[in-house]
Amino acid sequence: MALKDTTDHTAHPWSRCEFGKTLFSEGECQRPGVDQLNGSLLCVPHAKRLRLEVREDMLHGTVFEMDKWLDNPNNRADQLHWQRVLGQRDEVLEQLRFNRTLLEAHKEAIQQR
Ligand SMILES: [Zn+2]
Repeated sequence: MALKDTTDHTAHPWSRCEFGKTLFSEGECQRPGVDQLNGSLLCVPHAKRLRLEVREDMLHGTVFEMDKWLDNPNNRADQLHWQRVLGQRDEVLEQLRFNRTLLEAHKEAIQQR
């Protein structure tokens, strides 16, 4: 009857979260997948976490672009504009910090199960 057990296991009434399979090697997640994200079916906590990670990447990209712009001597001619971009960069950094806090809290919550 051991064989029957394994078939039962794969024939869940729901699809399982694909988090462990596709993106990271933390082992497979046993929660049901309810949220479709980037072509993967994910459980609620993992979908939330992935969204935060996607957002972090996006914010990093924005800061990178802003740094490039701020470092360009040609852009310093317009002091007012330059200062404004510098201010916006601070705001993005603030969002990045906030996002990281959420992400860390989230990882801990998932580990505790
Ligand atoms: Zn999951």
